[in-house]
Amino acid sequence: MGRLIDQYIRNAEERERAEKVEALAAIFADRASVHDREGSFPHQNFADMHEAGYLKLTVPKEFGGEEISLYELVSMQERLAYGDGSTALAVGWHLGQVLHLRTTRKWPGRLFDELCRAIVADGAMINTFASESGSGSPSRGGKPETTAIRTDGGWLITGRKTFSTLSPILDRFVVSAYIPEEDSTADFLIYNNDRVSIIETWDTIGMRATGSHDVVLDRAFAAEGSRLSGKGIDDGGGWLLHIPACYLGIAMAARDFAISFAQMYRPNHLQGPIAELATVQQSIGQMEAELRTARCLVYAAADRWDQEKVSRPSLKSELGLAKYMATNNSIKVVDMAMRIVGGSSLSKKMPLERFYRDVRAGLHNPPMDNMVLHTLAADALNERNAD
Ligand SMILES: Cc1cc2nc3c(=O)[nH]c(=O)nc-3n(C[C@H](O)[C@H](O)[C@H](O)COP(=O)(O)OP(=O)(O)OC[C@H]3O[C@@H](n4cnc5c(N)ncnc54)[C@H](O)[C@@H]3O)c2cc1C
Repeated sequence: MGRLIDQYIRNAEERERAEKVEALAAIFADRASVHDREGSFPHQNFADMHEAGYLKLTVPKEFGGEEISLYELVSMQERLAYGDGSTALAVGWHLGQVLHLRTTRKWPGRLFDELCRAIVADGAMINTFASESGSGSPSRGGKPETTAIRTDGGWLITGRKTFSTLSPILDRFVVSAYIPEEDSTADFLIYNNDRVSIIETWDTIGMRATGSHDVVLDRAFAAEGSRLSGKGIDDGGGWLLHIPACYLGIAMAARDFAISFAQMYRPNHLQGPIAELATVQQSIGQMEAELRTARCLVYAAADRWDQEKVSRPSLKSELGLAKYMATNNSIKVVDMAMRIVGGSSLSKKMPLERFYRDVRAGLHNPPMDNMVLHTLAADALNERNAD
């Protein structure tokens, strides 16, 4: 029987890429507990990923990238998160957004081309800082309190962004801002400058090495051409599947750890290891059911998104459901893995307690559970109304 993680590998090319990312994940796993404890940003992981070509996976081939599909992105990210959830989530924003820009073409061509070249040549990365303490998750439609005021040749951006993942390493990023004179909101591409500062606020229970600090902009200049007003082609937001992929990877690591432990651990009152106990086998079976169901949904949604280009906007419910099931099931899997291992699972010497903390963060990445359920309910009600 092959490994569960390989279930969705379709061909030799995907296998080759999988082996490369697994090598990185193994190195990052060794570094993960130190960064988790310190809350430090894993700069060396990002240097290694640049070296290995990981940062350019979603860049179009014409710029020297790999132009991988969403399905492959899910597979890569799941494997990377198996080694280190924080690194996977952080790089996932970058890889996902480049895929999104590739399919929507929502940036002016000149800016996208320049970004792609910088990724390939210098290991540049991108992320969007849209969350704020006053407006909450951008996915709920709150108006940014960050403002953009017109000035000679561009805009002056002022505000404070929270949850700014990758902030310690980015040389450019996108911010959402409100434009009072137009009573509208737009995104702006900002190149790091002395009017931008990082306030190291990220001290959380989980995903501690994502560098998701606050970013403060004090009249930071964005050139006229850096206003990213266009929405481009609607791609249904498939790129967000990098999020469930990450939490599945953490759950997979917890599952493997618990199974190995159960096969090895034999208390002296038993004849064999605890894996032979019916109760432990029930728990392993439950982990399998949760994990396999969620993986099936995520890979199926990614494949549909890749294949059905025209109907991408209508895949929103399916994509949201996949994220909902993956994040919630992953939390359950880590919980069950810890019950199998028992009291020693609480030890900082084992990775399970970190998995337990990291996996919870998925609840607070978009789309949030209540948004997904709302969309599913709306679909159901509209179906009845259409009768
Ligand atoms: C590890 C991690 C990395 C992240 N990285 C980034 C990043 O790089 N860039 C970025 O912009 N953001 C990032 N985020 C932020 C994320 O996208 C959310 O903005 C953030 O988690 C806050 O979401 P929230 O739902 O708790 O916030 P809020 O919208 O403030 O909601 C808080 C609570 O209020 C209730 N609530 C609020 N509004 C509604 C509503 N309309 N309907 C129902 N209930 C409501 C819900 O109970 C909700 O749980 C990251 C988050 C995490 C955890």
